[in-house]
This record gives sequence, C-alpha cells and structure tokens, in this order.
Amino acid sequence: PIVLGVESSCDETGFGLVSNGRLLGQGIASSAQQHAEFGGVVPEIAARAHLDAVVPTLENSLAASDVELEDITHVAVTSGPGLATAVHVGLAAAKAIAWALDKPLYGVHHLAGHAAADLLDHGPLPDKGIVLIVSGGHTSLLEVHDLVEDDIVHLGDTLDDAAGEAFDKVARLLGLGYPGGPVISAAAVDGNPSAFRFPRAMLRPGDDPYAFSFSGLKTAVARTVEKLERDGDPVPVADIAASFEQAVVDVLVAKALRACRDKGMQTLTIVGGVAANKRLRTHAQEACDAAGIQLRVPSIDLCTDNGAMIAAVGDMLVRAGKEPSGLAISADPSAVLERAQLPSAG
Ligand code: ATP
Ligand code: MG
Ligand code: FE
Repeated sequence: PIVLGVESSCDETGFGLVSNGRLLGQGIASSAQQHAEFGGVVPEIAARAHLDAVVPTLENSLAASDVELEDITHVAVTSGPGLATAVHVGLAAAKAIAWALDKPLYGVHHLAGHAAADLLDHGPLPDKGIVLIVSGGHTSLLEVHDLVEDDIVHLGDTLDDAAGEAFDKVARLLGLGYPGGPVISAAAVDGNPSAFRFPRAMLRPGDDPYAFSFSGLKTAVARTVEKLERDGDPVPVADIAASFEQAVVDVLVAKALRACRDKGMQTLTIVGGVAANKRLRTHAQEACDAAGIQLRVPSIDLCTDNGAMIAAVGDMLVRAGKEPSGLAISADPSAVLERAQLPSAG
C-alpha cells in the first residue's frame, strides 16, 4: 500500500506518505505563530489556517515523497481527539481525496498516531511495551500489546494539566511566548535545574503510581515569580525554566520506569510533542540504561503533530486486513484510545 495520512487536530496541518512501515515523505504547516499572542491555540484561527494549508501542504508531501496523487492506495485521517473545528477540516479533505481517487478511508485516533510514529524511525513496534504519551493535551501511560487490535491498557493520565500544557502555561507566565516547550527549553539552557525546588506531584507512597498532576507545579512557578516581583528582585528566567523543566522530567521518567518495572516491560516508548524535549530525552535514556530497558523516542519532527504518524497507523490497519471506516465517518473530538480502531459502520 501507499497510504496518505492526514492530520489537523490542533495547529499543525500534516500530510504524510507511508508504505510498508517506511516513511516516503511528508509536508507540514503550522499556525503556531498565529496563536502566539494568545498564549494558546485559538480554534477558529486554527481551522482557517488548516483550510489555507490543505492544498499546498498536500502538494508538498507528494513532492517530498516522489508520489503522484493517483499512486495513493489508501487514505487515513485523524478523526479525533482534537479541536472539533480543526479535525473537521482534515476530515473533509481526506474524504474528498478518498472519494475522488475512489480509495478506502480509515479514521485514526490521534494518540494511536503519536504512539506509532516511532516505527517510522526505528522499525516495527515492540511486541509489547510501555508507551508514555506526553503532548499538548495528554499525559498518558499506556501498556500497549497491539495498537492495531486495540489491545491497550490505559494505566494512567493527568488529573489536571497535560505536560505540554504546563510548558505552555509556564511559558506564558514567564512572558516567553507559544508554544511553550521550545521557548522554555531555549531559556533553560544556561539555567540551573536545582536553583528552585518545585513540587514533584503524585510520587508519594499511596499516590496513584501512574497518575500525573502538573497544575500545582504551574502554580508554584507563578507564586515564585509573584514573590520575586513583589520583593523587587530580578526574575531569573533561565533558572526558573530549567528548574521547572527538571521537575516535569523527574516525574515523567520516574513514573514511566515504575510502569516498566511493575508490568515487566523491556521497552519504553516516549512520544508526543513533549518528547521533543532534550532534557527529557537525556534523562530518560540515562534511567533506561541503568534499568536495562530499551528506550525508543522518535526524531523531533515525528514527536510533534504530523501526517506521517497517521499514515503509519493507516498502513498497519491496511496490512492487518482491517475494514476501512468509509466516507460516512464523523469527527469524534473526545475519542477514547482503547476503542480507537474499531471500524465504524458505513
Ligand atoms: P494532543 O496530541 O494531546 O492532542 P497536541 O497535538 O497539541 O496535543 P503535540 O503537537 O503532540 O500536542 O505537542 C505539542 C505540545 O508539545 C505543546 O504543548 C508544546 O509546548 C510541547 N512541546 C513541543 N516541543 C517541546 C519541547 N522541546 N519541550 C517540551 N515541550 C515541547
Ligand atoms: Mg501543535
Ligand atoms: Fe498531538
């Protein structure tokens, strides 16, 4: 198969082409800069930007892949979760392409896409393993046995803010812009990660070992900044950014390794936008090396939203002989991963 993947759930418009687990090429456009002044994604602006980006980005992906539109054998598209207005644009585009080419259409869960992204870099997914999804809207620990068969145990989630959301909110209160992850990392480079002892939530005995909470951390950073300003002291942005980043990384790594240990898993895969974070990648690698666990993290381009990861899932569904979803598929903005791949009727 030559599978076209379409992604539009948030502020990236992505098209990617995958064949037999191999990335042929992709095109991506982002409206992130249009949201910068608001400190977060504005759904209407995102939807309008998707509309503008669909045709040129599709063309870019075909050119990058050296594939003609007519060569596409299947179309896969993010049907949820995500911003409803944004998901609808990609879904409409994917339906139009599938209809025009008379090719089958598969709805794909956005988080299944994130989880599958790594196979494009490092080959077939492990038979089983722990997957940590850390993105703008999710912080989920999964025990994944088979993505295609939905054989997934959802171990835990954030109780409040997602990890990426914490980066975005802290960036906003430090006046660093949006998206928060890259700007905080840049600000943190020369900072001391032990300068401030910010809280590491949900790590005490008796706490849910697989649940996360980041709103207290965000509040602690806000209080620190307020106090410094009240006292007329300079705000050491680099130290605060580094200390905040370290607090997030410590919790993510501790819980992911705990899950590997508890469940007897030999492989940890970290995916989603926050997996682009260098401090997280470094610390996770050290911890996995020490524990004898194989760490898989995709390249930065495949961590944040993209169409290739959606094509990767579509390609797996096709090769597993799964029924397509059909053109009647509708958006499911709050789709649950464990039910992701059940083909909808029609
Ligand atoms: P979801 O996948 O949950 O629907 P999303 O699609 O918006 O959310 P992604 O595109 O996967 O999320 O990731 C975006 C998030 O990743 C943002 O919150 C951004 O701040 C964060 N991020 C991106 N790069 C980095 C980085 N280098 N360090 C930390 N966080 C990062
Ligand atoms: Mg994004
Ligand atoms: Fe995402």
